Amino acid sequence: MAFRAGTGTFETMNLPAPQLRTFGSWSGSSQSPLVIAGPCSAESLDQVMQTAKALKAGGQTQLFRAGVWKPRTRPGQFEGIGYDALGWLQQMRAEVGLPFVIEVANAAHVEKALAVKADAVWIGARTTVNPFYVQEIAEALRGSHVPVLVKNPIHADLGLWLGALERLEKVGSTELAAVHRGFFSSHAAPYRNEPKWELSFELRRQAPNIPIICDPSHIAGNRALVEQVAQVAMDIQMDGLMIEVHPTPDEALSDAAQQITPERLRVLLQILAANAPRNSALQEVIDAERLKLDEVDRAMVDLLRQRMDIVEALGHLKVQHGVGIFQMDRWFDLLQQRGEQAETLHLNRAFVEELFQTVHKYSVEQQLRLYDASRKNREE
Ligand code: PEP
Ligand code: MN
Repeated sequence: MAFRAGTGTFETMNLPAPQLRTFGSWSGSSQSPLVIAGPCSAESLDQVMQTAKALKAGGQTQLFRAGVWKPRTRPGQFEGIGYDALGWLQQMRAEVGLPFVIEVANAAHVEKALAVKADAVWIGARTTVNPFYVQEIAEALRGSHVPVLVKNPIHADLGLWLGALERLEKVGSTELAAVHRGFFSSHAAPYRNEPKWELSFELRRQAPNIPIICDPSHIAGNRALVEQVAQVAMDIQMDGLMIEVHPTPDEALSDAAQQITPERLRVLLQILAANAPRNSALQEVIDAERLKLDEVDRAMVDLLRQRMDIVEALGHLKVQHGVGIFQMDRWFDLLQQRGEQAETLHLNRAFVEELFQTVHKYSVEQQLRLYDASRKNREE
């Protein structure tokens, strides 16, 4: 897919300019993130106005977020104010001057968002999982040119995330950004949603020009962890942050534990900005260490080639003598030996075992290919 690239200039000590990516009339980079902030849910006109005024005064927020219809896990939880909240957001925009973004989960929501001229919409994690809903939303948005943020699906399926972006692109949406909000997992602790940063790296590789906004609030699930997640997002060069902000977080009707005050957001963003410029001497040391890593990695791939040569020779032997490809005892023995070696060398045993599971998987696959080839030869 071909996402539009933004360009920009960035001056700092000897560092390559991070790419400035654009989304609607907003732009951001890891050095100067696009900041989207506001409450999890719009709860009252007063709460919307109070939050927006404080954010506006902070001067860092570019887009005000607020949920109007809330997808809740269990019925009976606060499900959002609905239509009335749209009027509050319009009033906020007129009086405070911040553009706003709301969540849409079906065509009816889109229709109402368009009617109030929402400045942008986001598709939530529970919606990105469902191609029917995404398609319905895309059709409803056709021709509107409203910028769309696509949150990652609840579970770690990159295809669904990319697929949602593609569905929007196909109806003519050019103003697209992805939001990384973490993934449901039984290993999420200490977070609410496991970050699985590697999925964002893969998204960046496959769609290099699309901005990726991190949502540390939904990853953390706990306000004490929001700042460190935001720092990681900046360190790995995400383009923006979506952070839940509430004037009295403990009283919030949804996601109370993870919301922070506007004042705390102001400080958090100042800390991130202060950490942004890296000194060039440090960069030189990092570059030198990376050269060493490249050497080691090259040697590792050479060794894998050598290993695979032996695997192939062994495969031919097994095929010739009709020996089964996979021998469970040998596999357990290998895992045991390498696991013990890892411990002796103070390497994480699980890491080394995982690595060998992958090496072994491809070795077995290679031998199975030899086996299939020989069977086909015999059949011919
Ligand atoms: C939200 O942003 O308030 C929200 C419901 O997010 P998600 O879809 O990421 O759970
Ligand atoms: Mn929320």
